[in-house]
Amino acid sequence: MKKHTVSQQQLLMMAQASIARLGNFIDLNRPIVLKFSNAKSYFGKYETELIVADTIEIVHIITISCIYNHSQSVMDATMGHEMVHAKQIECGDEADHGESYQDWRKEIYSNFGIDIDE
Ligand SMILES: [Zn+2]
Repeated sequence: MKKHTVSQQQLLMMAQASIARLGNFIDLNRPIVLKFSNAKSYFGKYETELIVADTIEIVHIITISCIYNHSQSVMDATMGHEMVHAKQIECGDEADHGESYQDWRKEIYSNFGIDIDE
């Protein structure tokens, strides 16, 4: 049986397309750092990180699993989910699936037809 695989370059382009599609709507201030993994335990993962180099910068780290995100529609849902967590952090909330998350979920569904799930 032929295994369906997507190259990391294709994943990167799909993730960037999702950010381009949802970026103005979710409107994040801090930069997103994209990472890719082979994790089976999640579609996407959100972390916030303080990077200290010449300047101190707080960034959103979004890790995308290569295992599950094989189409643009799945990637849109995964990136939307993680970008909402990023927005929660910027607004001083917890990155959880509570009330503010559910509000964003409804808004994204009605504006884009994307269900970012729980
Ligand atoms: Zn989540």
